[in-house]
Amino acid sequence: MKQDKRICLITYGCQMNEYDTEIVRSILSAAGYVFTQDDLEADIIMLNTCSVRENAHRKVYGHIHDFRHRRQGKPVLIGILGCMATGLRQELIENKHLALDFVVGPDSYKRLPAILAQIGSPAGAASEEGKHPGYDVTLSEFETYADVYPARAEGVNAWVAVMRGCNNFCSFCIVPHARGRERSRPAGNIIDEVRRLADEGFKQVTLLGQNVNSYRHEGVDFARLLEQVSTVKGIERIRFTSPHPKDFPQDLIHVLATNPKVCKQVHLPLQAGNDRVLELMRRHYSGREFLDLVCKLRKACPTLALSTDIIVGFPTETDVEFEDTFELVKTARFDSAFIFKYSPRPRTEAALKLKDDVPEAKKTERIVRLNKLQADISLEKNKELVGLVHPVLVESSGKTKGGAAYGRNDANKIVNFAHAALKAGDMVNVRITRATPHQLKGEFLNFIEVLAPLG
Ligand code: SF4
Repeated sequence: MKQDKRICLITYGCQMNEYDTEIVRSILSAAGYVFTQDDLEADIIMLNTCSVRENAHRKVYGHIHDFRHRRQGKPVLIGILGCMATGLRQELIENKHLALDFVVGPDSYKRLPAILAQIGSPAGAASEEGKHPGYDVTLSEFETYADVYPARAEGVNAWVAVMRGCNNFCSFCIVPHARGRERSRPAGNIIDEVRRLADEGFKQVTLLGQNVNSYRHEGVDFARLLEQVSTVKGIERIRFTSPHPKDFPQDLIHVLATNPKVCKQVHLPLQAGNDRVLELMRRHYSGREFLDLVCKLRKACPTLALSTDIIVGFPTETDVEFEDTFELVKTARFDSAFIFKYSPRPRTEAALKLKDDVPEAKKTERIVRLNKLQADISLEKNKELVGLVHPVLVESSGKTKGGAAYGRNDANKIVNFAHAALKAGDMVNVRITRATPHQLKGEFLNFIEVLAPLG
């Protein structure tokens, strides 16, 4: 069914949001809509939003005002999708300045064609939640979009959501409130999708889930799912994100260590190193237990690259408690870390029950110290790689001036090197010649047919 409506779909936030954008594109393309990157020529502007980070909503509001201003009265439907739609539903619906035409949560994307058809024109009425045809922020216990094949951009990596939602309710996190309860897709359906991706030329899949290693469907757990995905011919690398440290049984560690297609890289969110703070965060592990897991992972898999997330200045965190995090980071020696200052997210337990009482200057002091420590560790770890030969999956060809190409090694680290005749998806051996905290430099050695595990 041909439409003459053009949609400009803008995505913010995490990989799950990027994936959801591919789902939305698929659903709306099937309904006849076409997509444009130019918001000025679009009939409909959709912002697929994220509410995990502080002030995300302010940025989105700013963009909406900017769109309206630049269009100088030319009609357009503007709406919000994603986490923010459910996380801030009331505020979005009631905000008269935004005058949103639609607010659609992450479990209602299949209704988008009907919603857009119903609101029909830029003059679509604004009214209360539940009555406005453009508002649907219902969360589902079942929706996994297993029957929607995402409309992906070209590339070497394809994201594949294997589960959605989260049951953990970490006290600082909005995800369970914005994306609902955990539900997993059938394994067979995931394997079918991965086969199709291999046929389309993708070399790598990254299995996605808010708590990806708690995946379970009809007796298939995450370790078995990884094994099944690794049987798909043409897929050379399998990554996953984000696992929770409490869901890392020995057989998952075994699959990670022994399956040559499963990359030797784990993003393992720590959040804090002090036990009282971890309990307040509802993380369900102690600092000691986290370090024990790191030891087990490294023992099974000595080349493993570990990255993490850390929050500094969680409510009531003292200087002494922060030092526990600092010491744990020194001991764990992560390859990289994403470090954030705590800020309350609406509707979360921490926001409702705990005062954000660590002064901003103190949060800044802690994040600066921790970032410096991590940069030093990252550089030391990257320097250890100089002289080694790494298989690299090329992401950007060397067609630019000077043949600058880059790709990623098994550990997901960016490797820059020169070669004038590569294409994205090539597998090459690169000798590492230089290291910075965040990237590696190397020299091209040869093409390889099938990736050997990094040893
Ligand atoms: S496990 Fe992750 S997604 Fe789930 S509540 Fe905790 S931080 Fe949020």
